[in-house]
Amino acid sequence: VLESSSSLHASITDKLSSQMVELFEACQQQPSDLERKEVCRARLQQDIQQIFPSARLYLTGSSMNGLGSRCSDADICLVIKGNKKPDALRVLGRLLKLFKTLSYVERNQLIRAKVPILRFREKGSDLEFDLNVNNTVGIRNTFLLRSYAYADLRVRPMILVIKKWARYNNINDASKGTLSSYTLVLMVLHYLQTLSEPVLPSLQRDYPESFNPLMDLDMVPEGPKHIPPYISRNQSSLGELLLGFLKYYATEFSWDKQVISVREARAFPKNNSKEWNNKFICVEEPFERNNVARAVHEKLKFDAIKAKFAESCRLLHERKELNSILPFRAII
Ligand code: ATP
Ligand code: MG
Repeated sequence: VLESSSSLHASITDKLSSQMVELFEACQQQPSDLERKEVCRARLQQDIQQIFPSARLYLTGSSMNGLGSRCSDADICLVIKGNKKPDALRVLGRLLKLFKTLSYVERNQLIRAKVPILRFREKGSDLEFDLNVNNTVGIRNTFLLRSYAYADLRVRPMILVIKKWARYNNINDASKGTLSSYTLVLMVLHYLQTLSEPVLPSLQRDYPESFNPLMDLDMVPEGPKHIPPYISRNQSSLGELLLGFLKYYATEFSWDKQVISVREARAFPKNNSKEWNNKFICVEEPFERNNVARAVHEKLKFDAIKAKFAESCRLLHERKELNSILPFRAII
């Protein structure tokens, strides 16, 4: 029996879609996972206030933005108020010592990155924490991402599967010169914003007050609460969107000329600006407007990233299933 090319296409993408939903349901962060992180956050905040009385801890990243999986780490921003901006390394040095005395903390280490962090685990569990000092943009962008995550039902499964795909393919580690999860998420949002029938709008453009960069930090979680769901005319299935995403970055996006801007829901030209010129991948931070993909600075790593998009795109077009680009057992 001859199948028409469109029904053939539908049979692959339908299968892909149900595999994506299955994977999402098995992997997404559970309320009990978040509770554990929250209990630990509150306990740490109390202990840190013994040294820094004004200290407040905020959970950020995928624990809070709706894009977390059961094994996601807990990103924490420590905010210390005061007239003088505290030196992050000095603060973390003091916390390093304090944490050595805490019975529930283990494998406590200082990481001297551009944004230095203290990385540690909750004793006896596999829950990992990354704590930064006063990197408050992370609190703002967490709630921006959360608003995108819940703007359309397809966003969360789509992003969770793509994060798993990138991790399985070794292109999701900024410390090794590949993509941070944050960069990858912005790349997916950009794809969904720029389809001829968009799945997402620019929330910063449509609701500037909800994402005002000067808003008091304690108001940030409230900011987006009154945004209505986005009504998209795009009817594509998850499988079609995944195929489209891989194809977009494998063949359509112009890495050497374009900057990804989720803030503006478009790609804008590099225009000889210092921030963007001679960078392999340019993805604009929606609030600070700098490049979040700085970690990708080696040609070899950049080529490896592009090769993964091309290879996975080809495998799916050859009617392979999700298993061919992301073996289920490897990640659940
Ligand atoms: P995972 O589930 O893999 O841990 P994640 O969503 O927590 O993913 P990360 O890349 O670990 O993503 O980043 C954690 C948070 O730190 C982000 O949600 C964002 O708030 C903040 N962040 C990371 N990189 C940047 C950056 N370059 N500029 C501003 N904020 C950043
Ligand atoms: Mg994280």
